[in-house]
Amino acid sequence: MTTASPSIFTRIIAREIPADIVFENDSIIAFKDIAPQAPVHLLVVPKTEEYANVSELAEGDPALLAEVVAVARQLAAEYSTGEYRLVFNSGSSAGQTVFHVHAHVLSGPMTEGSLGF
Ligand code: AMP
Repeated sequence: MTTASPSIFTRIIAREIPADIVFENDSIIAFKDIAPQAPVHLLVVPKTEEYANVSELAEGDPALLAEVVAVARQLAAEYSTGEYRLVFNSGSSAGQTVFHVHAHVLSGPMTEGSLGF
């Protein structure tokens, strides 16, 4: 697993890289995925890069994980129907490419495909 620091998401938080930001508070930022896999595809990202994946976050700061889920629910209601899929890729063989924990919020009409979108 490759770990870059600062992560690309930390650089978005610092406004070093542009992103279409849809939510931000003291602990979380959310923005549109640059390569959307669904009609609505948002990333909800804890600002800390202390946790590489959702298992580390669940163990290290469960309240922050709960906040990620709450923001995902709020954004799915705001940007789509309120129904959504929440995906945390964990590990490179599972498709994770950025090792700064983040939730994919996927929503909108489903199409044919192994995961529906
Ligand atoms: P993962 O593969 O689960 O680690 O997810 C990383 C996600 O970050 C991918 O869906 C990428 O499309 C997305 N991504 C990478 N760079 C950017 C960027 N600069 N702005 C928005 N999304 C990005």
